[in-house]
Amino acid sequence: MGYPRIGARRELKFATENYWAGRISAEELEATARSLRGSVWTELRDAGLDTIPSNTFSFYDQMLDTTVMVDAVPARYRDLTGLDRYFAMARGTAELPPLEMTKWFDTNYHYIVPELALDARFQLADGSAAKPVAEYVEARKLGIETRPVLVGPLTYLLLAKPKPDSPDGFTPLDLLDSLVETYAELLERLAGAGAQWVQFDEPVLARDLSGRETDALVRAYQRLGGLSSRPKILLATYFGAVTAASLRAIAATAVEAIGLDFVAGPGNIESVASAGGLTRKIVVAGVVDGRNVWRADPARVKSTYAVLLGLADKVELSSSCSLLHVPVDLESETALDPAVRARLAFARQKVTELVALAADLRSEDPWATPLPAVPADPQVRARLDALGDARRSDRAVRFAAQRAKLGLPDLATTTIGSFPQTAEIRQARADHKAGRTDENAYIAAMRNEIARVIRLQEGLGLDVLVHGEPERNDMVQYFAERLDGYAATDHGWVQSYGTRCVRPPILHGDVSRPRPMSVEWTAYAQSLTPKPVKGMLTGPVTMLAWSFVRDDQPLAETARQVALALRDEIADLEHAGIGIIQVDEPALRELLPLREADQEIYLAWAVQAFRLATSGAADATQIHTHMCYSEFGEILSPIADLDADVTSIEAARSHMELLPYLRAAGYANGIGPGVYDIHSPRVPTAEEIEANLRNALQAVPADRLWVNPDCGLKTRDYPETEAALANMVIAARNARAAV
Ligand code: GLN
Ligand code: ZN
Repeated sequence: MGYPRIGARRELKFATENYWAGRISAEELEATARSLRGSVWTELRDAGLDTIPSNTFSFYDQMLDTTVMVDAVPARYRDLTGLDRYFAMARGTAELPPLEMTKWFDTNYHYIVPELALDARFQLADGSAAKPVAEYVEARKLGIETRPVLVGPLTYLLLAKPKPDSPDGFTPLDLLDSLVETYAELLERLAGAGAQWVQFDEPVLARDLSGRETDALVRAYQRLGGLSSRPKILLATYFGAVTAASLRAIAATAVEAIGLDFVAGPGNIESVASAGGLTRKIVVAGVVDGRNVWRADPARVKSTYAVLLGLADKVELSSSCSLLHVPVDLESETALDPAVRARLAFARQKVTELVALAADLRSEDPWATPLPAVPADPQVRARLDALGDARRSDRAVRFAAQRAKLGLPDLATTTIGSFPQTAEIRQARADHKAGRTDENAYIAAMRNEIARVIRLQEGLGLDVLVHGEPERNDMVQYFAERLDGYAATDHGWVQSYGTRCVRPPILHGDVSRPRPMSVEWTAYAQSLTPKPVKGMLTGPVTMLAWSFVRDDQPLAETARQVALALRDEIADLEHAGIGIIQVDEPALRELLPLREADQEIYLAWAVQAFRLATSGAADATQIHTHMCYSEFGEILSPIADLDADVTSIEAARSHMELLPYLRAAGYANGIGPGVYDIHSPRVPTAEEIEANLRNALQAVPADRLWVNPDCGLKTRDYPETEAALANMVIAARNARAAV
């Protein structure tokens, strides 16, 4: 369905960043890109794949490529040309802000959101901007026949947003017919160049579609399918099951093949069976997980295949979605435990796996090698069984106990955890990791930083302090490195957006905590000040969301194991005299299933895991949580169910939109709606922060209202951070005096 574009050693990232910095020319960047594309195609051919995708390369993002291809470039970028225009849309220039960027479905990949005007005039770009044609021809010159991959018209339009100030009632879907005509022209051009197949990616089919959207789907593919001169069409869906109704609608069009994701959407089996009508289509069965790092289970592949055989004209095998979402090559991971490694497959291995699975299915006596089982940790399992569903005392009881113990003022001030990560801190961590400095020097450097941050916060007059998180490379990786059942990779990079890559840890077995993970740093910070220092942990859902997670048991079960480890950590923090503990869940919203029908079950286990982690805390221990997103309507009731004593949440960036929801929901615990946006270096004035606070006081009583920024400060610099926090403290004092 698609392949990583970054290169096994992130060659594309480095070349692109060199181009941005003016160190290499556009031609040099293009040359790196061409060589990466060529080596992917060659590799896929040599691995023995029967058909090979192209146009899966991108300098930044495939949605942005589509915007360029159909000439939907917003007016403000039109003075620029070529790569400069492209990167201006992706990341802005000194004068121009970039286009918006957001998450690609429920993955950690981000796409550039098309911004479409009512009077948009799509037209097919020429030359290399007609990228699918250019790449097809490029591959063909290497003697490799490919299947260009295109973002489907429905997905493109449903992920687009109307240009600001568009007339009411306009939705990008109104532009369908014009967009489809542009795609029709593209198909003709591809056919002219010799293309036998194209792939239209329509992952929106894994979401709930309205009647109008389903009609649009049918209209688009009837038109494209009906073209007299065109390549054959594979309509690829992924990230979940497609409804039988959608399948029936597709089956009625002339597309030749339908791609279905049987990993994220096991329900597709049922859909295919009840839709019927696929007997004249090829079903491309996504059986190798494109989003996770495990080898496929041959028994499962076999049974999927067996069911499909009778229902389709022909069955082909593929990855469940583009392999963009997994690291490139397991061969680079020389330090992994061989027992874990034996269960893994990265992109390169998954291609080999597909070829082998297909060969096995064709053979007389398939399936010699079952997957190795995951060893269980009986102690973890027994402890979890004994725990059951844990709850804390009533909120009123806790509130009174905490008030008595902590003695905090109304409108208490705090921060979200991290302080700026200076070059010196990063250097100290890197030196330690590389063995250039010894343990004692490292500890001294971190303690030094913690002491500095504590003094700074005392000077600013904050009420609840933090240690500043200097020792954390990343809020998930830090804990993953300290938990059994987790492994880190050396080169397991995955594109998150543009040149930004992440290296998610791998949660491969039963999770447990061999020793305390954060207690020493936090206790040291507390030893320096009479003010309360807030302990800082990453919650179970976020630990899963930003990792590759074992798939041999339900996520809910794995979340409980992580929660148990956190529960132990919280007990140890309490023992060390920490009275306030924050369990961050910034990814709670992100794992929300695409279909509404699946959301309740997810939220139930997510909430349960958080409660399992936190419910061992004494009544007088104040549990905080933090999240950063702004779609409050759908998420506020689960947030209330977490039953944290205090929740800090992004609000300034979304203009305090959360307040009416809070009032409507009768939210009764403490809440800290962020009073300033930390994503920009701008220093907010005390007056504007105070205005936000007065606004918030309309919805929340003063003894439950907290004063904090939108999120952690690690990406900021010190001067602006100090100035902003000083203004925040002044604003809190003024608002307090006015209550
Ligand atoms: N405690 C973390 C920090 O301050 C929270 C980060 C986040 O919300 N993503 O950095
Ligand atoms: Zn945050």
